[in-house]
Amino acid sequence: MYSCGPTVYHFSHIGNMRSFVAADVLRRVLEYNGYQVDHVKNITDVGHLRNEVADTGVDRVEEAARGEGKTVDEVVAFYTDAYLQDEARLNVLPPRARPRASQFIAQMIQMIEKLIEQGHAYEADGNVYFSVRTFPSYGELSGNRQDDLIAGQRVEVELDKRDPADFALWKKGDPSRLMNWDSPWGRGFPGWHIECSVMASDLLGPQIDIHTGGIDNLFPHHEDERAQSEAVSGERFVGFWVHGAHLLIADERMAKSLGNTITVAQLAERGIDPLAFRYFLLQAHYRTTLSLTNDSLAAAQTGLSRLIDDVAQLLQEPESGDEGKGDEVRLAFLEAINDDLSMPSALALVQDLVAGSLSPVTKLHLVEQFDRVLGLDLLTRARGSVELTEEEQQLIFRRETARRARDWRLSDQLRDELAERGVEVRDGSAGQRWIKRAARSGA
Ligand SMILES: [Zn+2]
Repeated sequence: MYSCGPTVYHFSHIGNMRSFVAADVLRRVLEYNGYQVDHVKNITDVGHLRNEVADTGVDRVEEAARGEGKTVDEVVAFYTDAYLQDEARLNVLPPRARPRASQFIAQMIQMIEKLIEQGHAYEADGNVYFSVRTFPSYGELSGNRQDDLIAGQRVEVELDKRDPADFALWKKGDPSRLMNWDSPWGRGFPGWHIECSVMASDLLGPQIDIHTGGIDNLFPHHEDERAQSEAVSGERFVGFWVHGAHLLIADERMAKSLGNTITVAQLAERGIDPLAFRYFLLQAHYRTTLSLTNDSLAAAQTGLSRLIDDVAQLLQEPESGDEGKGDEVRLAFLEAINDDLSMPSALALVQDLVAGSLSPVTKLHLVEQFDRVLGLDLLTRARGSVELTEEEQQLIFRRETARRARDWRLSDQLRDELAERGVEVRDGSAGQRWIKRAARSGA
């Protein structure tokens, strides 16, 4: 499985993160089904130009380096690090490899040479273009062809292209660029699309089962990747292309250029738990456009907190032994996640399970299994919210004693004292139950 990773020229916004969470859910579902997933996710650090369709404009990473007065390496290291932190906060599992595009230049040159030999590519004044006419099924993946879009966009077409639909494999570097490499066609740099074709085949072979990305990667990035890879190998490149839909904010696509981006770190600053954002994403199907509002985010935060509270309550129930039950729920969960990753149904099943009539020990066992797919840390957090410090345990014990002695005044006083420490106590038929509120935000 190959996932197009971030271009590390800026903080990834939560719209980008939606695609990465979607790929993570897919991987977790496959692993839950018993597959071993060999997952590669790249870091794009060169060649992603400002105008993706026409393949022109400044290099995003170089632009960031100039703007911030840093070197390219500093920019790449900084935003890669920020990206990895966001992934970790959202419980996105790390891939086996994170290839950096600039480390694969030699392999890119090799693939481009092969394409030229085969007649699929041509050189013109230091640029190398893929000849779209030589690949008849070009456009089948996305339904788009570059010439249609360019005609619509009225962007400038490079004059050395034989056909406006042709796209760059190698670009001539001008001396003002920060990143240039020697090549058989002079100094220059690779096109963004060839990078993924090369990293995918180098680390996973010429044929891969699954290729993921955001829907905005579909054209031209994936269309071009497919053309290059299949032209070189003569084989089908990808079994399944999986694209995550957009996350809208105020009915607009989130984009740095629109100035409406939010990052995971900014959510956290606003008191939104990153896993509540993951929970929010799980409430929608990955191919459905999703709108983010303050209310929907707050509702997700409440939903996740409730679920953790319910699991925390289960942890305090007396143990009972009917471990074997729950097969129906297990099957229903499997059917939901295997139905094109129907996570909204899977989430609803977990909520029903927790509120349902199975024994606490069976419920906990199933929650633990299902959370391997959901990735919400349900059990860890629930445990965190019932584990008490020694001092808190003392207060609970003293309160238990007071209750036995029917000293309600002292019992209430101790309950308030616990509440001040963030421990909310509830009295049930089987004694005291508690939830630690303080543990939640820091978890
Ligand atoms: Zn890619």
